[in-house]
Amino acid sequence: MTLDECKQVVAKVQLGDNRQVDRLVIMEWFDTIGHLNAADAIAAVKMHRQESTDYLQMAHVIRNAVRVRAKRAIDSGPVYCRTHDFYPLPCDRCKEYPEEVSF
Ligand SMILES: [Zn+2]
Repeated sequence: MTLDECKQVVAKVQLGDNRQVDRLVIMEWFDTIGHLNAADAIAAVKMHRQESTDYLQMAHVIRNAVRVRAKRAIDSGPVYCRTHDFYPLPCDRCKEYPEEVSF
């Protein structure tokens, strides 16, 4: 995420608990969660609010962002070929033998 996107994430966090946010706080969040995708981080904050009354920490956001990514992968459908176990899609073997394709 960019610094501007991090400000949006922290603004959403602030909406949930009215915490004090200044430039230093945003820089600290950016240092810790800046590697995350911004949309994942926003979804991770929402997930925390839906599941917990605990004071939201940066580690919550990082942990939930992993779950957000995993859920998206599951929702987007099968990852492996149905015909050839453990061949990720698009399947190389189905390209070699197109008659085997069965989705
Ligand atoms: Zn296949």
